Amino acid sequence: MSWSATILTLYPEMFPGPLGAAIAGRALAEGRWTCTAHNIRDHATDKHRSVDDTPAGGGPGMVLRADVVAAAFDATRNGTPAYALTPRGRPLTQALVRELAAGPGVTLLCGRFEGFDERLFEARAIQEVSIGDYILSGGETAALVLLDACVRLLPGVMGAPLSGVEESFESGLLEHPHYTRPAQWEGLAIPEVLRSGDHAKVAAWRLERSRMDTRSRRPDLWQRHPDAADQSPSGAR
Ligand code: SAM
Repeated sequence: MSWSATILTLYPEMFPGPLGAAIAGRALAEGRWTCTAHNIRDHATDKHRSVDDTPAGGGPGMVLRADVVAAAFDATRNGTPAYALTPRGRPLTQALVRELAAGPGVTLLCGRFEGFDERLFEARAIQEVSIGDYILSGGETAALVLLDACVRLLPGVMGAPLSGVEESFESGLLEHPHYTRPAQWEGLAIPEVLRSGDHAKVAAWRLERSRMDTRSRRPDLWQRHPDAADQSPSGAR
């Protein structure tokens, strides 16, 4: 059975969007995953088809109504774990992406305006997930990011399976930098070791660069990595 992406949104026309092209698009055409977007507005009950209302307590903007979103959720429930895209959610990580990609699929709820009425998360088994510490205009682009990250891990989707496990974050480190021909470009050379043909030396160089770059670019990741306790030149802080 294919991995299923079910999306609840006010803009179903945004799906699959860019995921209809390239690797994800090919996988979609091959039936490795399915993408079904439902319009939350179809579950509004008043004659204006309202999905939002003013914030309790006052303030700017509008809030997505829990009753309308819950009705959309209940009508489309299919047993896949449900996540609402919100800036207040648990940060999306490669570990969570792997977990989701290994399951039957995902149901994603895309917010708009000021976000969802909080009672939605009390009344339904819907977790919140954030794609980063910045504010988007809506959850749709965040959902596309999450789906892209999951779909590329599905069986048969990526050409070289190893490229999935060697990448940044999989080992807790950033990936080493890459180079390709020409060997010289604008006076810049590919590091000699990468042209040596010595696989052990190449692997050692790559690991060392991963460590160095993680330490300098992402000290937050480095501090959580077991090598951070290492007092060797590559591990010393
Ligand atoms: N008032 C909200 C706040 O300050 O936390 C921001 C609402 S934002 C303008 C509208 C919608 O975009 C959110 O409900 C959410 O679905 C989505 N969104 C915005 N930033 C996001 C992020 N970093 N991660 C996931 N979803 C996000």
